[in-house]
Amino acid sequence: MSLQLQVDASLKSFNSFGVEVRASLFAEAHNDFDVREALQYSVDQQLPLLVIGGGSNLLLTGDVHALVLRMASRGIRVLEDDGERVVVEAEAGEVWHAFVLWTLAQGMSGLENLSLIPGTVGAAPMQNIGAYGVEIKDVFAGLTALDRQTGELRDFTLAECTFGYRDSVFKQQPGRWLILRVRFALSRMARLHLEYGPVRQRLTEQGIEQPTASDVSRAISSIRSEKLPDPAVLGNAGSFFKNPLVSAVLADELKRMYPELIGYPQADGQVKLAAGWLIEAAGWKGYRELDAGVHRLQSLVLVNYGSATGMQLLALAQRIQADIEQRFAVQLEMEPNVY
Ligand code: FAD
Ligand code: NAP
Repeated sequence: MSLQLQVDASLKSFNSFGVEVRASLFAEAHNDFDVREALQYSVDQQLPLLVIGGGSNLLLTGDVHALVLRMASRGIRVLEDDGERVVVEAEAGEVWHAFVLWTLAQGMSGLENLSLIPGTVGAAPMQNIGAYGVEIKDVFAGLTALDRQTGELRDFTLAECTFGYRDSVFKQQPGRWLILRVRFALSRMARLHLEYGPVRQRLTEQGIEQPTASDVSRAISSIRSEKLPDPAVLGNAGSFFKNPLVSAVLADELKRMYPELIGYPQADGQVKLAAGWLIEAAGWKGYRELDAGVHRLQSLVLVNYGSATGMQLLALAQRIQADIEQRFAVQLEMEPNVY
């Protein structure tokens, strides 16, 4: 077997919460062959297989009785380039932000608003990563996944991924699809999205009137660095809750009671409420219980001050959910994948 298996391996450095748990077995997949070998081994040993990338969207609540397979496959290739539209394919184990920077350095735009999101290319379709008004569905050109049930490879089109707000067919069918490589349709003529949040304002402050895609990437990276805790310093998994979609009736009712409520009307008539506003209004911002807490600047982000367990973080999240439901009649859904 070419796969290097580690027995009873610590996962502390493989989850951005920095939770200390152990995996029965751990291995890294550098290519499709390693992936198939790991899959066969897990079937033969009747051991579950948990595939991870950068571990930045995981909450591990205890030791993982599985073969944990970290995707470490590398490779980026240009499949089509007509001087305007470029299709680029990247292997699942590529680091997302490094890939974004590579595309920008090649003069390709489309991924700039998704700068500085932690994790890997292969995990990006799982929840249709999004930030500052762009989601990967907007630049998606296809992906190749292994069907873990049949062992067959399958190419997915945009429609087949059924991307939604932090959602996809891959998230809906947990454990079925192992994403091997993803394709993006990028552009050599930058069509920038600057209208979201403080992006344009930051560029103006920097004296940039005609930004390039790289300027936008740098501006967004600097905004994110100021607002979000760095997992290398303070364990976290980014936003812990999705922004809830509620009916216009409930949103109106809440707005009457809380005029400062932040809500964004959606095309389907629902209203997307800022979960961070709800959590802050309920008094949770900066709350800490042992080493599990709510970040002092970003109430959407749960943090591990050092030795919090996954169960402690989960318990805190559940208390927040119950409190928000009681106060506002709004259900908050957790965003990270809980194991
Ligand atoms: P992991 O956490 O390793 O895995 C996530 C899930 O995907 C797991 O269920 C895992 O089993 C599965 N998985 C991983 N790789 C594969 C694969 N190749 N095939 C099949 N399944 C796979 N998210 C956003 O959408 N927008 C943001 O702006 C954003 N900002 C963040 C900021 C911070 C500081 C942090 C810590 C997180 C942020 N996130 C954000 C969440 C996270 O970075 C993304 O969801 C990212 O795509 C997760 O990638 P990962 O490689 O770390 O996945
Ligand atoms: P923000 O700019 O303070 O805005 C708060 C919330 O309001 C965001 O969650 C965003 O929803 C929504 N919003 C703001 N402007 C909007 C607009 N013009 N139209 C529709 N919705 C709007 O948010 P932030 O926390 O600093 O994050 C900035 C961006 O990075 C957001 O897109 C956020 O999703 C993303 N981010 C995601 C994570 C994660 O882990 N998932 C972590 C950090 C940042 P949306 O979230 O739907 O965009």
